[in-house]
Amino acid sequence: MIVSTDGIVLRQQKISGGRRIIHIFTKEYGLISVGTNINEKTKKKSALGVRPFTYARYELFKNKGYYNLNNLEVKKSYYAIGEDLDKYISGSYVLEYLFKVLEEEQANIKIFNLTLDFFNVLAVGKSNSLTLPLAFVVKSFAMLGVMPELNSCVRCGKEPEDILFSVKDGGVVCASCCENDDQDTLIFKTNFDIVRLLKYFIKNPLKNFIKVQLKPEVYDELRKIINKYIEYYLGVSGILSDKLIDTDH
Ligand SMILES: [Zn+2]
Repeated sequence: MIVSTDGIVLRQQKISGGRRIIHIFTKEYGLISVGTNINEKTKKKSALGVRPFTYARYELFKNKGYYNLNNLEVKKSYYAIGEDLDKYISGSYVLEYLFKVLEEEQANIKIFNLTLDFFNVLAVGKSNSLTLPLAFVVKSFAMLGVMPELNSCVRCGKEPEDILFSVKDGGVVCASCCENDDQDTLIFKTNFDIVRLLKYFIKNPLKNFIKVQLKPEVYDELRKIINKYIEYYLGVSGILSDKLIDTDH
């Protein structure tokens, strides 16, 4: 059966016989793995379409649950992002995150559109900050069904005065509600207004974040909390690190 879909390459893997597997986040079918003989050394235009950071229309042959690449037409290549190290790191976070959180063959049009938006913003933005991938991750929570509760205490239901953020409870809690939990390392008291900041991330379009530079200590604290949160709810660890990540893109 021949199927066609728009998609973004998240990852490419070499396998035996000079073949490759490309992992594509597609609009219609979600994350799929596609076999191909096309490699990057091919001078053909289609070689671009099997690289990460490419948005293309793919024509696939599906047989017994396996996809094989028949043809492709590049719609937009974000490969130039790779020429700017900061942008490359930001873009790689998001590719890696998507590869790990998306379920195979489950379409998620909202995250798909958010991803295109992210790469469009990243490609044209002049200044870059790590706030952009952080905003992407926070925005994805609602789309993945793991949005933290930010309005009332998850334990008592009241609007908390002295706010803590509890990863395990999935949102904000009053300090008084967790007086006996001080051994629990997944409860955080922040030096900034975490509710206001997360709501700002959720409300504003990604293009606004290209110029947002959080104070390094705020970024670092928030990054740690978000990392714990995605580890706990999505089973993904170490995505938003402040170090270079090791990728084989
Ligand atoms: Zn409470």
